[in-house]
Amino acid sequence: MIKENILRIREEIAKAAEISGRKPEDITLVAASKTKPTDYIKEAIAAGVDAVGENRVQEMMEKHDEGAYQGAPLHFIGHLQSNKVNKVVGVCDLIESVSSKRLLEQIGRRAEALGITQNVLLEVNVGKEPQKTGIIPEETEETLEYASHIRGIKVSGLMAIPPFFEENEKNCYYFDIMFKLFVDMSAKKYDNVSVRLLSMGMSDTYIDAIRYGSNMVRVGSAIFGYR
Ligand SMILES: *Cc1c(COP(=O)(O)O)cnc(C)c1O
Repeated sequence: MIKENILRIREEIAKAAEISGRKPEDITLVAASKTKPTDYIKEAIAAGVDAVGENRVQEMMEKHDEGAYQGAPLHFIGHLQSNKVNKVVGVCDLIESVSSKRLLEQIGRRAEALGITQNVLLEVNVGKEPQKTGIIPEETEETLEYASHIRGIKVSGLMAIPPFFEENEKNCYYFDIMFKLFVDMSAKKYDNVSVRLLSMGMSDTYIDAIRYGSNMVRVGSAIFGYR
C-alpha cells in the first residue's frame, strides 16, 4: 500500500507542478512518519520519497538507532524545544521548524561546536495562530537578517503550517500569502541565507500548496494511512 500511495502522490505532484510551470523533480516529497514504525519508513524510502520528516526527538532517536532513515535525508518538522537542540543538530539534514531567533542561535552554537553547518528553514506562523509556533510574516525579513550573523547555520527557506479549512479557497488564501513572502525573501542577499525552499502542504492540501508555489510537501497519512 505504501508504494502504491507514493506512486499516486507522485502523479498528483507531477500534475500540480506542471500547472504551476515547474517540473515534478522540482518538488521534494517528505514522508511525515510520526508514530509509524521503522519498517514502514524503509518501505517509503525504497519507494522513492525524497526525505523523511519526524516530529518528536525521542521517537526520532529510537528509529534512527534502528536504521529507519538510511538512504534518505532526515528532516525535523516538529516543535523543537531548546533542551533538545543538541540531539537534532548534525543528525538531521534539515531542521524545518525553526521558530525563533533564540533557536537559530542555539542551533548555530551547537553546529559550530560540531564543526558543521546546519541547514534550517524558518517556520512562519502565517495564520498568526496563538497556539502555533513560528515567527509572524512581518518578522521574516528581520529574522533572516539576524540569521545572517549567526555562524554554523544556513537558512535555506521557509516552512509553514497554515490553518486548515475544508474549503480549498481558504487554504489557498494562506498559501498565496506564503508564496508572496517566499518570492520577496528569495530576492534578499544575506550571508548564510538562501531562500529557495518553501515547505508547505500536507496530505489534505499538498496539491493546492504546490499549485500556489510550494516546492516541498510533508505528507503523512496519505502515504502511511491514518494515525
Ligand atoms: C504530521 C505532520 C504532517 C503530515 O500530516 P498529514 O496530514 O498526515 O499528511 C506535515 N507536517 C507536519 C509539521 C506534521 O506534524
